[in-house]
Amino acid sequence: MPAGFDSLALSPSLLAVVAELGYVEMTPIQARGIPVLLAGDDLIGQAKTGSGKTAAFALPILERLPADNRGPSALVLCPTRELAAQVAREMRKLGRKRAGLHVLTLCGGQPVRPQLAALRRGAHVVVGTPGRVLDHLKRGSLELDRVTTAVLDEADRMLDMGFQDDMETILGALPKSRQTAFLSATFPASIEAMSRTYQQNAVRITIDEPGNETAEIRQRVLAVDHDQKLPALYRVLGEHPCESALIFCHQKATVAELTDTLMIQGVSAACLHGDLDQFDRTRVMAMFRNRSVRVLVATDVAARGIDVLDLDLVINYDVPSKPDVYVHRIGRTGRAGKTGLAVSLATPRDEYKITAIEERIRAPLERMAPHVADAGANAGITRQVARAAAMDTIHIAGGRKDKVRPGDILGALTGEAGGLAGQDIGKIEIRDRFAYVAVATAVSHNAVASLNNGRIKGRRFRASLVRL
Ligand code: ADP
Ligand code: MG
Repeated sequence: MPAGFDSLALSPSLLAVVAELGYVEMTPIQARGIPVLLAGDDLIGQAKTGSGKTAAFALPILERLPADNRGPSALVLCPTRELAAQVAREMRKLGRKRAGLHVLTLCGGQPVRPQLAALRRGAHVVVGTPGRVLDHLKRGSLELDRVTTAVLDEADRMLDMGFQDDMETILGALPKSRQTAFLSATFPASIEAMSRTYQQNAVRITIDEPGNETAEIRQRVLAVDHDQKLPALYRVLGEHPCESALIFCHQKATVAELTDTLMIQGVSAACLHGDLDQFDRTRVMAMFRNRSVRVLVATDVAARGIDVLDLDLVINYDVPSKPDVYVHRIGRTGRAGKTGLAVSLATPRDEYKITAIEERIRAPLERMAPHVADAGANAGITRQVARAAAMDTIHIAGGRKDKVRPGDILGALTGEAGGLAGQDIGKIEIRDRFAYVAVATAVSHNAVASLNNGRIKGRRFRASLVRL
C-alpha cells in the first residue's frame, strides 16, 4: 500500500518541504526505512538505484538534528565526489526550512584549506568520501564524538572501490552508541560481515530481488568509424533477425534521416520524436506494439511512453553519455524472463562512455568483431534486412464510445463473414472513437474488405489499412 509522508512522525516543516518538492507517496524503501531510522535503530537497506534512498536516510537525520551545533551529528560516506555532492544537495533541499543548516562536503580532489575553514565554522552534517574524511580525522580537523548517525551510502560500491579499510577505520572512530545505516543497490557478503562488526541488531530491508538489473540482457558493442554507422546498423539487424527492434539516436535529425533511409531501402520502420503530435505518436506506438512496424527509431525523450514494451532488440545508434540512460534504454528488452539483446555502435570517441557503462553495470560488454567497410557484403545484408513486418494495422472507425469491444472485432473477422483464422489476428487496441487491429499481412486486404462489407454489433464501421 503506497502511503503518504504524513503517516510518519516527521515535524510539520519537513512534511511541508516534502510536499513542496512534489513527493506525494513514499517509495518502498522510504516507507519501511524511515520509521526504523527515526526509532534510532540500525539499518541495512537495499533498493535499486533511483528508489529514493537519499531521502530515506536524510529525513530521519534532519528530524533528529540537535538544536545546538557543536560538531557534526551525522556523517554520510559516499563512494565518489559526485555522489557526495548529490547527497549534500538533496540534504540541503530537504532541510531548507531548518534555519542555519550547515551541510559540508569533504571530498578528495578538492583543496583542503576551505574544508578546514568550514570545519572550524562547524557543520551539522558531513558528507564525504572515505579517503578525505579519514585525512581530516588524522589531522584532527574533524571530530566525530558527537555523531549520532553514520550512513554508508552505496556501501557496495565503496567496498568495490577498495575503501573497506578506510570505512572500518572511520566507523571505529565513531561513538559506540551511534546509529549506523548501510544503503546500497546490491547486498554482497562483505556488507553482511561489516554489519556484524559495526552494527547492533540491524533491521534489514530488501525492496527487490538482489542481482543485476541487466543480467538477463546480452549486451554487445560494435566498434565502428563514424562514417560506417549505417552499414554497421545493417550488419547488426542482419546478424540478429527479429520482429521488433528499437533504435536510439541522440538527435531528432538523426532519427528522421535514419528512418527515411531505412524505409527507402524497404525496411519496415517508423520514427518517434518530439515533433510528432499525440495522434501520430499513438498510431506509431500502436503499430510498433502490434508488430506492423519492425524497427522504431527514437530519441530518449520520445521513447518515454514505450516503457512497457518487451522488445527483441535495442540498438544504441548513438551511445548515451550517461550510464543510467543506457540502463533505462536497454531495460526495455529482456522482460518477462526472456533473454534480451542490446547492441551499441561505438565510435572511437565513444569508448569512454562504454567504460562508464561497464563500471555502472559492473560487467564487461561483449565486443563484436569491429566493423570494416565492405560494399559487397553490405548489399547482401541490406536485401536480407529489407523484410516487411509480419502484420498490418487496420483502422476501424468505431471505438469504446461506440460500444465496440475486442470480442466484437474478433467475431467480425473470424466469423462466417470474416473467414480469418484466429492466428492471423494480433493485438486489438480500442480507443474512444476508433480501434486498431493487427492482421497478418497475407490476409489484411481481405480483412479490410470483409469489415467494410460486414457489420460489427449490427452497425457498419469504416475500415482501412493504416500506412505510415
Ligand atoms: P537512490 O539513492 O535510491 O538511487 P535517489 O535518492 O537519488 O535514489 O532518488 C532518485 C530521485 O527520486 C531523486 O531525484 C529524488 O529527488 C526523487 N525522489 C525521492 N523520493 C521521492 C518520492 N517519495 N517521490 C517522488 N520522487 C522522489
Ligand atoms: Mg543513492
